[in-house]
Amino acid sequence: MADFTGKSAIVTGGARGIGAAVAAALVKEQIGVVIGDLRDEDGARVAAALGDTAVFRHLDVTDAKNWRAVIADAEALFGPLAVLVNNAGIIDVGAVEAEVPMVFRHVLDVNLYGPWLGMHLAAPRLRAAGGGVIVNISSTAGLVGYAGIGAYVASKWGLRGLTKTAALELGVDGIRVCSVHPGPIHTPMTAGMSESVVAAQPLPRFGEPDEVAAMVRFIVAEATFSTGSEFVLDGGATAGRFLALSSES
Ligand code: NAP
Repeated sequence: MADFTGKSAIVTGGARGIGAAVAAALVKEQIGVVIGDLRDEDGARVAAALGDTAVFRHLDVTDAKNWRAVIADAEALFGPLAVLVNNAGIIDVGAVEAEVPMVFRHVLDVNLYGPWLGMHLAAPRLRAAGGGVIVNISSTAGLVGYAGIGAYVASKWGLRGLTKTAALELGVDGIRVCSVHPGPIHTPMTAGMSESVVAAQPLPRFGEPDEVAAMVRFIVAEATFSTGSEFVLDGGATAGRFLALSSES
């Protein structure tokens, strides 16, 4: 089991939803966590509830200046940076024909350029720390297509590919890079989503943020021989299809 005592972590989009659960799981592993998000009030509240080993800092993941400040604070407060969880993300509903070009670009900016920028700036610090782990929160939308959310799908497939490239480049320095692919999870992002979207899954329910956090914790603390790997938690949604065949046909 990897020991990150005396090391620091950054969790983006940690003011609510999956990111808040991930931050809590890492704090339990004795890792000092900087929660970065646009939502200053929510983020400060989440960090305060986690005690002395978590702080909130304003972070727009598309802003290099913000990233540099958050990395510097993480190291000053909690020790060498060893864990980065690129979790911040947004979704927009728009068919290929209907999507507004600027919105398409903005989704790619936050969901793909943001994690790239984080890895770009954090990798030298993880190397200096003697190694570490980067976890990129993709989606089942990085494994299959979904009608009506093309920008989101493109960003999550991109993040899956970028994860593998970073794993290839950084393994030599003891830095592991993995992607996580949740199906629908109960968070503010999915608040308007009908339960019917999960009805056809082998496990016909939404997942919970704590279930994603448990997988991230596993990748960080225990999956010491995994890099460039995809960790799926989707109630079996991407396992395949049920066929309505009769044995007599
Ligand atoms: P969420 O509840 O909407 O939380 C995401 C957080 O990220 C929000 O606080 C959001 O702030 C913040 N954020 C947005 N843009 C940002 C930026 N530029 N810089 C920093 N923070 C930013 O979402 P979630 O459901 O927890 O999702 C977390 C991650 O899991 C996302 O990458 C999402 O795509 C992925 N995921 C979610 C599900 C699901 O079913 N929930 C499934 C698969 C994958 P604002 O609210 O102000 O935008």
